[in-house]
Amino acid sequence: MGEFDLIARYFTRPTTKAVLGVGDDCALLQPAPGTQLAISCDMLVEGRHFFPDVDPFTLGHKALAVNLSDLAACGATPLAFTLALALPRADEAWLAPFSRGLLALADAHGCELVGGDTTQGPLNICITVFGEVPVVKGRSQALLRSGARAGDDVYVSGTLGDARLALEALRGTLALPADVLAEARQRLEQPTPRVALGQALRGVASAAIDVSDGLLGDLQHVLTASGVGATIDTSIAINLIAACTRPDCAAGLISLKNRLGYVLAGGDDYELAFTAPASAREAVQAAARQAHTPVTRIGRTEAEAGLRLTDGQGNALPRSFASFDHFA
Ligand code: ADP
Ligand code: MG
Repeated sequence: MGEFDLIARYFTRPTTKAVLGVGDDCALLQPAPGTQLAISCDMLVEGRHFFPDVDPFTLGHKALAVNLSDLAACGATPLAFTLALALPRADEAWLAPFSRGLLALADAHGCELVGGDTTQGPLNICITVFGEVPVVKGRSQALLRSGARAGDDVYVSGTLGDARLALEALRGTLALPADVLAEARQRLEQPTPRVALGQALRGVASAAIDVSDGLLGDLQHVLTASGVGATIDTSIAINLIAACTRPDCAAGLISLKNRLGYVLAGGDDYELAFTAPASAREAVQAAARQAHTPVTRIGRTEAEAGLRLTDGQGNALPRSFASFDHFA
């Protein structure tokens, strides 16, 4: 199978939103009147972001999910994406499930594959997504990292820490019962981008980011961009790890310190962390209901810079959880 057969067979679909998709030198997109394009790019490298033997279906899902998560963080509506793919060989047993996983998630979000590039080389997947954000009275409705004000509430969507728990189990640093691992592994390999929540939070949240490298590190980006600090209540945050709230609880298998570490700095969660003024509490809950995505209020922003942790009684805790940094 040659390069062009491969593109035609696995990556060429009819488009409905895009003016022109795969097959010419450029794709053509027409953003709706009164909207801006939101653009984001993420690369997945074998050995760095995924195990060489990972299921290609879930890899296709995850490659797009991490990009949709960036659109979600900006409150953008997905429109289209491009796929730059380096492959060691044209292996149909890999390409078929990879494209199925990728395009199933694309279809679920109405995000069309409109182009890309295909080359021989070590497995590397680079996706660029395009989304739309409305402009109202000349003002972009995009959620930014820079909009938090002192005194805002801090929220996180869904659950945190389960992806890291699965990663540790797959690396062999801890043992989990099969059903606990299966659930956690789903969070690691097939994360759910919070696209509907991001859109519902437009005009409600003051700032937002998606949690890819760990809550503390990613939230710090919001705080720095906004020129504020925050305090997080760890007695609330610790319950965000789904594996430890099951009745057949994995909590007994993991020390409290590790559990909190996975929640606060685990990485690969693809939840949204966001801020909103206290006056918007009702509106935040309405957005969560509309998006069928639970959100939890975990803290508060403050004028004093830095990120502080407290226990349930408000006592300060040492801050010893680093988030993921590729070059640290
Ligand atoms: P060019 O010569 O302009 O670089 P290519 O020959 O690389 O174009 O690709 C031909 C067409 O196939 C283009 O429309 C390109 O966007 C598309 N394409 C190439 N690789 C992929 C891919 N992995 N997924 C989707 N579309 C692709
Ligand atoms: Mg090319």
